[in-house]
Amino acid sequence: MSASKQPASSRATVYNYGSINIDHVYRVPHLVRPGETLSSTDYQIVLGGKGANQTIALARAGGRVAHWGQLGRTDDWALETLESAGADITDVTLLEGSSGHTVIQVDDAGENAIVLFGGTNQRFTSERIEALIKNTDNEGWLLLQNECNDIDAVIRQALDRGLKVAFNPAPMTPAIRDLPLTELSLLFVNRGEAAALVDLDEDSDADALIRALQQALPGVNIVLTLGSEGAWRIDGERHDPLYQPARPVQAVDTTGAGDTFIGYYMAALQAGRDDATCLERATAAAALAVQRAGAATGIPVVDEVETFLQ
Ligand code: ATP
Repeated sequence: MSASKQPASSRATVYNYGSINIDHVYRVPHLVRPGETLSSTDYQIVLGGKGANQTIALARAGGRVAHWGQLGRTDDWALETLESAGADITDVTLLEGSSGHTVIQVDDAGENAIVLFGGTNQRFTSERIEALIKNTDNEGWLLLQNECNDIDAVIRQALDRGLKVAFNPAPMTPAIRDLPLTELSLLFVNRGEAAALVDLDEDSDADALIRALQQALPGVNIVLTLGSEGAWRIDGERHDPLYQPARPVQAVDTTGAGDTFIGYYMAALQAGRDDATCLERATAAAALAVQRAGAATGIPVVDEVETFLQ
């Protein structure tokens, strides 16, 4: 089976206004206590950020994606990682100052603690945002998460420009409710984000979450992911929601499962696939990702997903 219905070059671009983080991952015997100095037994520097992960997933899926990002000048190696995945990095700029980064402790029990600094991800100027939107092909999609600054302005300008907008409100904040959510073409939410959007408990069942989302956001197409419980595509036109069970696999590390899912879903959509196929492909890619350690490093390439689907 081929990866897509149309060649990548003929598809409208997905522009991803997305964070790029440098993750500093320290292995520790236990999470550091107040006042304690603790020696780390291992240290790795890896590319992260929801934006970068989603771009890598979209590109590895064979999609056409242009990343809009900002990095500190000394972290230019991250450009190579995005480019070698197949992303267009023309609009990732290098600035003075610190990149977005995290300091992550992982202890022997797999528990983690994370400090996040937004850095250059939070320093987009309004002039730059206007210029990026102005240069888009308005047949395309804007994809964004909540890790860069001024997402309200970016969404509104993209809608004015005629772009279709797909939004993943992660991390969830109270300000998300003030965004023009009912004008989105697609909203990706996990269980926690969905529950927070509609004021329900996180342990609410899928039916309750779906009903509340349909009521709160009439007309919006929503993809609700529920980890190992699978994913739903809720139709803005009120047709019955589509359900895709998760693949029964042995999960090793679920970090980045949602990002892999979103990247593969967007690539399938861009290639003209129907909703059920988008769900199926995204679910297969995410199932491969959870069987591997790391976020970006665990994102499969399209051939692996094709093989898994056979
Ligand atoms: P993360 O924040 O860890 O990247 P998320 O919370 O945004 O993930 P989830 O809803 O946990 O997203 O997972 C997204 C998709 O990944 C699920 O719909 C499912 O297809 C797949 N997935 C997640 N966990 C598992 C698992 N344990 N086994 C199989 N598939 C999984």
